[in-house]
Amino acid sequence: MTIDIDFLSWSEARTTVYDLAVLPWGATEPHNYHLPYTTDNLLSRSVSLEAAKKASEQGVNSMVLPAIPFGSQNPGQTDLLFCIHARQETQKAILTDIVASLHRQGLHKLLILNGHGGNNFRTLIRDILVDYPGFMIVVSDWYKLADGTKYFAEPGDHAGELETAMMMHFFPERVKDKSVFGKGESKKFIIDSLNNGFWTPRHWTQVSSDTGIGNPIHATPEKGRSFTEAVTGIVAQFIVDFARADPNDMYR
Ligand SMILES: [Zn+2]
Repeated sequence: MTIDIDFLSWSEARTTVYDLAVLPWGATEPHNYHLPYTTDNLLSRSVSLEAAKKASEQGVNSMVLPAIPFGSQNPGQTDLLFCIHARQETQKAILTDIVASLHRQGLHKLLILNGHGGNNFRTLIRDILVDYPGFMIVVSDWYKLADGTKYFAEPGDHAGELETAMMMHFFPERVKDKSVFGKGESKKFIIDSLNNGFWTPRHWTQVSSDTGIGNPIHATPEKGRSFTEAVTGIVAQFIVDFARADPNDMYR
């Protein structure tokens, strides 16, 4: 069963019943000195593929779509070369077009697997569901699905140990040597309340000197593999439950 659209041909699509689509969503932004700009896209899609494969072993057919490579970026990040900011309107237009297409084709369930902390889809989803009331859209940040502190000395926020370990596991050839790792040190707001309870976006280049937040130094491929196992198991189980769910009978 093909679960990866990179390998899907029409001969298979036209004869297979798919229960839902999985949409990985990332960002294009610097990740400390050692990880590629497209880290969030690569990891969201890799986690999606592995989870969809596990779900297919339980008889559920889901299709992992191409990753959406542009996310919402903080002030300061957008000053950095090749960091691309996608506005809320852009993200909404993309998501609306995907939902409109799937809806027309008779597929009414979409799981967005998000890999970028700056993305927030909740209001977009509420808006879109006004126009597509029978459609179900679920979103999850995959990196929050398992407790990172059980797997990593310090999971980190951005290009830290968690993301670095995951990249070492899936794409070791794309992780630069440890000698170039920045420490991922970050500053806190002087106004304490902004660190707790009040929110404004952090100005990235004032908060971090190497664009990372969280020290990647203790990352290993083995830690990445263990975390991947945990997270993809959880996502796979959700795909199975979601596929079997009746939209008109969701509550007890
Ligand atoms: Zn990232």
